[in-house]
Amino acid sequence: MLPDIKSFLREELEEQFRAFGEPAYRIAQLLDWLYVRRATSWSAMTNLPKALREKLSANFSLHAHTLARKQGSTDTTQKFLWQLSDGAFIESVLIPANPALYGEASDRHTLCISTQVGCAYGCKFCASGLDGFKRNLGVHEIVEQILATERWHAAESSKLQIANCQTSGAEPATSNQPPSTTDRIVNNIVVMGMGEPLANYENLMKALKILNAPWGGGIGARKITISTSGLAPQIRRLANEPFQFRLAISLHGATDEVRNRIMPVNKKYPLSELTAACENYQELKGRMITLEYILIAGINDSLAQILPLAMLAHKLYAKVNLIPYNKVEGLPWQRPSEEVCEGFLAALEKQNVTATLRREKGHDIDAACGQLRLKTEREMAQA
Ligand code: SAH
Ligand code: SF4
Repeated sequence: MLPDIKSFLREELEEQFRAFGEPAYRIAQLLDWLYVRRATSWSAMTNLPKALREKLSANFSLHAHTLARKQGSTDTTQKFLWQLSDGAFIESVLIPANPALYGEASDRHTLCISTQVGCAYGCKFCASGLDGFKRNLGVHEIVEQILATERWHAAESSKLQIANCQTSGAEPATSNQPPSTTDRIVNNIVVMGMGEPLANYENLMKALKILNAPWGGGIGARKITISTSGLAPQIRRLANEPFQFRLAISLHGATDEVRNRIMPVNKKYPLSELTAACENYQELKGRMITLEYILIAGINDSLAQILPLAMLAHKLYAKVNLIPYNKVEGLPWQRPSEEVCEGFLAALEKQNVTATLRREKGHDIDAACGQLRLKTEREMAQA
């Protein structure tokens, strides 16, 4: 199998082009096709000489994710199920940036991306780990989630543009040209989809370098958040990278007793180790960490968690993001009542913790990671 062209950094491609005997300016043209126009075939790259396109196709593959299924919610959150070249499924979720624009399209979006097929960490409440771990995503499979989403969006916008012209009777302004396919809508990335990102460390880092580079995705490091269930050694490694990525910790319990019950990773890296790694990150990066805390009825929503959680948040200069649990089919866990969630938030705030309670988006589209894939795979198995 040939390596995918979207798994290479600019300098690596430059070296390859030198070996091909191609002039350096061709690189800029190629990158424009890949990351601005989001081409899905070599033949589309019409300003590259045919001989170069042949060399490229003999040495690299160029995969695009296939949209297998899409769910859109009433608040315009969209969930994509992509099929990869080996048939595996992964998910990305597109979330409009401005919650005030309820029911309206927003031009600023966050894309939640996956890093693995399945997950080996087996958190008890999570759909992604239910069927175990299949494989890591390659660099290009991480990068391609953004490109495929933007391709989908460009196609939708051009459909809308044509429909609008038809209803108004006006000639489309671009009637002699293809509609613009280069608009970007993803300006924030959260690595919170399926899989444990820090368990696919090398591929994740390279993919984020490509997405961050001005010649690639052009998304600022400060607009990229990596979420981890608590892989302490990899958090330390991340702290030494020359990037200002944001870090989110899936805490979900402020004591080892609670975390051990729901997150097996805590037995390997208990809170003392996790906290020390986070402190190190915070010190080296000077960045505020986010502690993600899913509220699960009867598991971690008791007020006994408030003091240890507040202590942790203060120690790490962290803010706490409370998320009412999203029901997963086949799992017994429930979200607490609204009163309990609001009470938990108020108790944290009373301890002077900066906290938010997510009045969840996308609840109606199985927004928690891994659910659409699981559903689709089970339906396919039944069929
Ligand atoms: N593996 C990484 C990133 C992916 S999970 C991690 O665990 O951080 C992304 C987030 O979704 C995590 O905070 C995870 O705990 C949360 N999550 C998983 N299942 C959920 C559910 N059913 N409802 C709400 N959040 C969920
Ligand atoms: Fe894996 Fe994160 Fe789900 Fe835990 S919460 S099983 S680490 S994806």
